[in-house]
Amino acid sequence: MRLNKGRLYIISAPSGTGKTTLCRMLLKKVHRLKESVSYTTRQPREGEINDVHYTFVSIDTFREMLGGNEFLEHAEVHGNYYGTSMSRIEGILSEGFDVLMDIDVQGARQIRGKNIIASYIFIVPPALDILEQRLNKRSTDSSDTIQKRLNKAKDEIKELFSYDYVIMNEDLHKALEDLIAIITSNRLRTEYLDPQWMARTFAVQEAQFRVYKSDTPC
Ligand code: 5GP
Repeated sequence: MRLNKGRLYIISAPSGTGKTTLCRMLLKKVHRLKESVSYTTRQPREGEINDVHYTFVSIDTFREMLGGNEFLEHAEVHGNYYGTSMSRIEGILSEGFDVLMDIDVQGARQIRGKNIIASYIFIVPPALDILEQRLNKRSTDSSDTIQKRLNKAKDEIKELFSYDYVIMNEDLHKALEDLIAIITSNRLRTEYLDPQWMARTFAVQEAQFRVYKSDTPC
């Protein structure tokens, strides 16, 4: 039984915060949630599968898609281009799924600018030195690159208050629970009920529903 319409969940986080791991765990745990596969011009990393983790395209193809207005948003991150396909999002929503979008702060800003209703979630590390330790541990990057990522992280964190929710990833399982709580509570909001379905179910005219509140959904 489907009570609510599909919704976008936009997740941003500085590099090294654990966002990718969290998103993977979330997708396994929550039903009716699908990730939108982004297009990117970066090279695949080991183990990454085309059309699963990303759709890997050339810069020319990316530019062509951009020219054809195929992206809901796009951005240059660490010297590579990334973009969210509008038709992919529409496809997921039309299947009755919510959409999980793992995008950077520039992309989130663009979607906000289009007044698209979505839940914006920002994941932060518990502290800057912990982020530094995680970046040092996980990568073979030079200390210069790590420093650049840390500076970028500080810059991205400045956008925190533009998001609806913030999750501190100190403990992965607690952070996952928090993410699930956000989705669960959103799915219970009356704003996202399908009025036609409710009207049919309770044998009332859609126009007969009385709405006295005026708050904006978050
Ligand atoms: P990575 O190359 O490490 O997978 O991702 C680098 C950054 O690009 C991450 O912050 C990720 O959220 C962001 N990203 C991935 N796909 C998209 C996209 O379609 N649009 C935007 N704006 N950022 C993206």
